[in-house]
Amino acid sequence: MNLENLHKNRIMISEAFKKKGKVNVSGWVYDGRALGKIKFLLLRDKSGIIQITAVKDKVTEDIFNFMDKISRESIINVVGTLKDSKQAPGGKEIIPEKIEVVSVAENLPIDVSNFSKTELPKRLDYRFLDLHRRRTQAIFRIQSEISMSFREYFYSKGFMEVQLPSIISSSSEGGTELFSVNYFEKKVYLAQSPQLYKQMLACSVENVFTIAPVWRAEKHNTVRHLNESRQMDIEMAFAGQEEVMKELGEVVQYIVKNVLKKCKEELEILEVKLKVPQIKYLSYDETVKLLKMKYGEDLSPEDEKKLDKKFPDTIVFVHSWPVSLKPFYIIPKDGKIDSKLSEGFDAIYKGLEISSGGQRIHIPELLEKMLKKKGLNPKNFKSYIDSFRFGAPPHAGWSIGLERLTQLITDQTNIREAVLFPRDRDRLVP
Ligand code: ATP
Ligand code: MN
Repeated sequence: MNLENLHKNRIMISEAFKKKGKVNVSGWVYDGRALGKIKFLLLRDKSGIIQITAVKDKVTEDIFNFMDKISRESIINVVGTLKDSKQAPGGKEIIPEKIEVVSVAENLPIDVSNFSKTELPKRLDYRFLDLHRRRTQAIFRIQSEISMSFREYFYSKGFMEVQLPSIISSSSEGGTELFSVNYFEKKVYLAQSPQLYKQMLACSVENVFTIAPVWRAEKHNTVRHLNESRQMDIEMAFAGQEEVMKELGEVVQYIVKNVLKKCKEELEILEVKLKVPQIKYLSYDETVKLLKMKYGEDLSPEDEKKLDKKFPDTIVFVHSWPVSLKPFYIIPKDGKIDSKLSEGFDAIYKGLEISSGGQRIHIPELLEKMLKKKGLNPKNFKSYIDSFRFGAPPHAGWSIGLERLTQLITDQTNIREAVLFPRDRDRLVP
């Protein structure tokens, strides 16, 4: 085997389909069949699948004998002649003149066919191999399109992309539990959100966005939570909840449009019927009446599903939540400490929360009062409060869970399907 030259003349399978005559392709053996005098291999690379066809006496004896000895998922290099073929997938096949095995795959521990019979936990144990599957690859090509479209949208709107620290000295929000880390002689934490930093940026450089990992030491083991996830965050200066809800609706529509346009094949592989979502605004009060909820309670998973039933293929913004249900940094209506309602919202899409956001408190005195009202000690938030003493405009923002959105767009029941290497309570490898 000549490793050095192997890849030099290699062309992608999608390119091979456009060629005539001799081609040199490499990839993974996807499938194989031997029917007496004729033997087939399906070869896969990231661009597609092509059939290699060997008819006895039309190819060398060596090749014919060898064709059905190559194990699935092994990597081979094939040089051969391209022929039209009505039966072959894509209408073309390669008649092999040379086949070299580049890397052997043996005794596969999981089923890597499209409709794998292996259960998810086992597939995740062998995620590197699970990623050979076109279905698995399709999910992450779509995820890549989602994050790319998110960036594109906000760059086109003049937002600045920012990189924020993931190590923090203390809780930014209260509530969710933090992972602690040894940091020299101190105990510090992994960030549960970039919240406070993006606010500082909105108060200096105005509109910003970031895509960054966050960690939550929540013990739950659900199909929509991870302990490490990635969030797509924005923060806007001189904005309230209406302005940022509008951006959220538009960016998700833009993302879905791009996925529909650029990931046709992936959607087909996944058998996903996707539509550009509509937008619906409902106040918390209206939602309580509509769903016959108990006033003062959060949306339950069932309530979120009901919203999807009533408004399918729609991003439902439930806005103007009671202050009591939102974090301390969400501004009460009209900036009044005794307002019952706030400028905070949740966005529900396909029956799950994809985002929370709202207008923030930019007035130090109001922030102190709100912290006390929430039973928190303003002293513990001194540097955060002080950051608003040097010219802080009203500002608002939100955060979309990247894996959550990928899960919904690719129609997966478990969020672990939408993260390459999940970190949950029990999983740290691979
Ligand atoms: P939920 O109510 O669904 O648990 P949350 O209200 O605790 O989420 P936020 O702090 O509002 O979460 O985070 C913003 C977004 O990040 C959520 O709307 C969701 O899309 C996503 N997200 C939150 N927590 C997780 C998690 N543990 N795993 C994956 N994604 C998450
Ligand atoms: Mn939320």
